[in-house]
Amino acid sequence: MILNAAVPNEFSALRVITLATDPACVLRLASALGGMGVTPLATVASLEALQAWLSAHRVDIIVCEIRSECGDGLMLPSVLKALHDAGTLMQFPSIFWTGETTLNVQENLIEATVTPACEAPAKQLWVKHMGGVAISALESHSRLAQSAGISVQILRDGGPLELGDALRTVLLTLAQPDPKLQAMTFESLAEDEVINALTTGEGLRFVFQPQFELLSRRIVGAEALVRWKHPRFGEIPPAVLMPLVNRLGLDLLLFSLVEMWTLRVMLALKRENITIPIAVNASAKTLCTPNFAERLALRMRQADLPSRLLKVELTEDVQEPDELHLSASLTTIRAKGFQVSLDDFGSGAATFKLLANLSFDEMKIDGSFVRGVEQHASSRKVIAGIVNWAGLLNLSLVAEGIEDESTIPLLHRLGCRVGQGYALARPMEIDAFLNFVIEREKNG
Ligand code: C2E
Ligand code: MG
Ligand code: MG
Repeated sequence: MILNAAVPNEFSALRVITLATDPACVLRLASALGGMGVTPLATVASLEALQAWLSAHRVDIIVCEIRSECGDGLMLPSVLKALHDAGTLMQFPSIFWTGETTLNVQENLIEATVTPACEAPAKQLWVKHMGGVAISALESHSRLAQSAGISVQILRDGGPLELGDALRTVLLTLAQPDPKLQAMTFESLAEDEVINALTTGEGLRFVFQPQFELLSRRIVGAEALVRWKHPRFGEIPPAVLMPLVNRLGLDLLLFSLVEMWTLRVMLALKRENITIPIAVNASAKTLCTPNFAERLALRMRQADLPSRLLKVELTEDVQEPDELHLSASLTTIRAKGFQVSLDDFGSGAATFKLLANLSFDEMKIDGSFVRGVEQHASSRKVIAGIVNWAGLLNLSLVAEGIEDESTIPLLHRLGCRVGQGYALARPMEIDAFLNFVIEREKNG
């Protein structure tokens, strides 16, 4: 992605450190950064020296060389995480990985072992490497770092345009508030303000994001999401609100509020003869509330709505839910005719265990794979694998977090039929959502 040509001094305020041992590489990095108007604060040769720097200075970017004989570059995200967890590092610097790229031949060992040598020659694979490490392995590692909150960019060709884009991405990120710092600010939110918002509904809204059949762009469902506008801090992201709600034991109350507004939306759509399922998020704890399914079924009956219109998305708020209890609850919910979806599949190890042990109607592919689908071959392979699993387990599938129109045909080719994301439609206030769905329905 080319964002822009470099503007002189554009990057001069960035605080950059290089981590490299090979003198030729040190010179190459210094010259590439110099060409962008960046003078590194320091060049260090070991992780120990880097840690000393980080404990005393704020650093925006660490440019480091990847070499198979030295694991420092690969270890860097874990070192940063440990410093962060120990309270030494307030904000993660971005990491740029660079190194010599080569196309190496790799014997396909699996083929070689299953095919007798006399019958066919072992298949040869050409694999792209950086500094002797397969790029696909670097991509997986960078995605893992990303999910720990650390941005890693792989500079494959090391050219000035690529470096300029990477530096500009960091500049843009720095201009936005850091979510971790934001979370710390919000921690000062008084608990009674959250209790007040949930009990009075003050500042609370519910928005709805449509889900589309990717090929026809027909609306086939929607998801309800909470919004809270705090009188002093403004919009509080659900990522901050939800842990507070769960800690205060207000999750069931929130579920009831979302459910109430969702039923109102369903009734408004029913008046227009539109029947699309709407999903409501719920944690394992909420779903394990005694008589949860019975109460939900009663509400639907009172509203004269069929259960199949309400979908429950299981979110991963608890690391190790009581699977036996959860299995009983999910089975009861499904037996009452509600659909159950496994949210954010692939975002954590727990989702795989849940998929293996419990039964669902649907799984949602985590947005982190979807967002990387064009850039990372590994994301494409993971999505293709999930599509396979969904087929084997007879589950429907929703791809989440589709931000770019250009990814839609690719997702479709990989086997995703339904999707949700900013490229298709953003979450909308109730009136806007109803108008949007009704208009679409009228115009075919
Ligand atoms: P989720 O259930 O996976 O919801 C999808 C999130 O992705 C929403 O974030 C939505 O606004 C966002 N999103 C949709 N399209 C895109 C896209 O193209 N790109 C990106 N980057 N994001 C996209 P939101 O509303 O901030 O919610 C975050 C999480 O908070 C939800 O993740 C869900 O786990 C939880 N949550 C939100 N509302 C509720 C609620 O009413 N009850 C419960 N229990 N949890 C909720
Ligand atoms: Mg969800
Ligand atoms: Mg999700």
